[in-house]
Amino acid sequence: MPGPDEVMRGAMAPAAGRPMLSEAELERRRGRPWTLQVVKALDIGPHMRRVQLAVTGDAAPEFQLKPAQEIVLQIAQPGGEPARRHYTIRRYDAASKLLDVDFVLHGHRTPGVSWSLEAKPGDLIDIRGPRGRIALNTEADWHIFVGDETCIPAILALIEALPAGAPGFAFIEVGGEDKQEIVTKAAAKVEWLLRNGAAPGPSDLLSNALAGFTFPAGKGHAIVIGETSNVRNQRHALLDRGLDRSQIYAEGYWRPGRVGGHDHVND
Ligand SMILES: Cc1cc2nc3c(=O)[nH]c(=O)nc-3n(C[C@H](O)[C@H](O)[C@H](O)COP(=O)(O)OP(=O)(O)OC[C@H]3O[C@@H](n4cnc5c(N)ncnc54)[C@H](O)[C@@H]3O)c2cc1C
Repeated sequence: MPGPDEVMRGAMAPAAGRPMLSEAELERRRGRPWTLQVVKALDIGPHMRRVQLAVTGDAAPEFQLKPAQEIVLQIAQPGGEPARRHYTIRRYDAASKLLDVDFVLHGHRTPGVSWSLEAKPGDLIDIRGPRGRIALNTEADWHIFVGDETCIPAILALIEALPAGAPGFAFIEVGGEDKQEIVTKAAAKVEWLLRNGAAPGPSDLLSNALAGFTFPAGKGHAIVIGETSNVRNQRHALLDRGLDRSQIYAEGYWRPGRVGGHDHVND
C-alpha cells in the first residue's frame, strides 16, 4: 500500500499528455502552511465528529477561502512522515477566526479518524490550504450536488452560499441517522438516501436517485463528489443525459484501499 506522500505525489503527477508542473506551481497548489489550534471537539452525529480550530497570529486576516474549499491536515505519525489528509472547511467565521471541520467516523482507526477522536483544546495541527478547485458556477440556472457523508460539509457549505432563491438539489448518501439541518436562502431541496446497513463504497444508490431527477429548465451545473467509482458513474450518467463536461465538477474524495489524497475524475 503506498504511503501518504506517495499518494500526494501521485495526485500531483501529470496525467499522460499534460505538461510537468514547476515546483513553484506545485507549491502554490499545495496551499499555504498554517498551524491551527484545537478549540473543541464534539460528536455532531453517530458517525460525525466536529473539531473546531482557531487561526491564530498576525497573519490570520490572510486566511481566506471560498465555500467548500479544503485543508490538508499534516497528522504526525510516530517515527515517520506526517499523514496528509484532505478535509473540507465546513464553515469559517472571519470575525472569531474559528473554523469547523467535520470528520466521518468510518469505522477504521485511521490517522484522520484517530486525530479527530483524540483532539483536545490547545492541541496544534499543521495544515496546508485553504485550497481546492470546487466552486459554485455563478452562471448556472440550477445546481445539483451529489455525494456521500464525506461530502456533507462541502455540499452544505455550497448550498448555504447559493444566492437567495437559487434552485439547488442535493442527493446525499448516508449510513443512518446522519442527516443535518440546512439554513439557506436558496430554494434548496435535499434528498437523504439511506444505505440501510450496507457498507459505504461502490453503490448505485445515488446514480438511481439521479436517474429519476428531472432537470429543470435552463442551464445546470453539477458538483459530483464522494467515493471515486461512484463519482465516475454519476458523471457518466449526467453526460449521457445531456450535460456537457463544462457543466460538471467531479472529484473522488476517497475509495476503498486508498490512503489519503484524492482522485481527479475526468475519464
Ligand atoms: C477535497 C476533499 C475533501 C474532503 N472532505 C472531507 C470531510 O470534510 N470530511 C470527511 O470525513 N472526509 C473528507 N474527505 C475524505 C477523506 O479525506 C478520506 O476519507 C480520507 O481517506 C480519510 O482519512 P483517514 O485517515 O480516515 O483514512 P485513510 O488512512 O486515508 O484510509 C484508509 C482506508 O480507510 C478507508 N476509508 C477512508 N475513508 C473512508 C470513508 N469515508 N468511508 C469508508 N472507508 C473509508 C479506505 O478503505 C481507506 O483505504 C475529503 C476528501 C477530499 C479529497
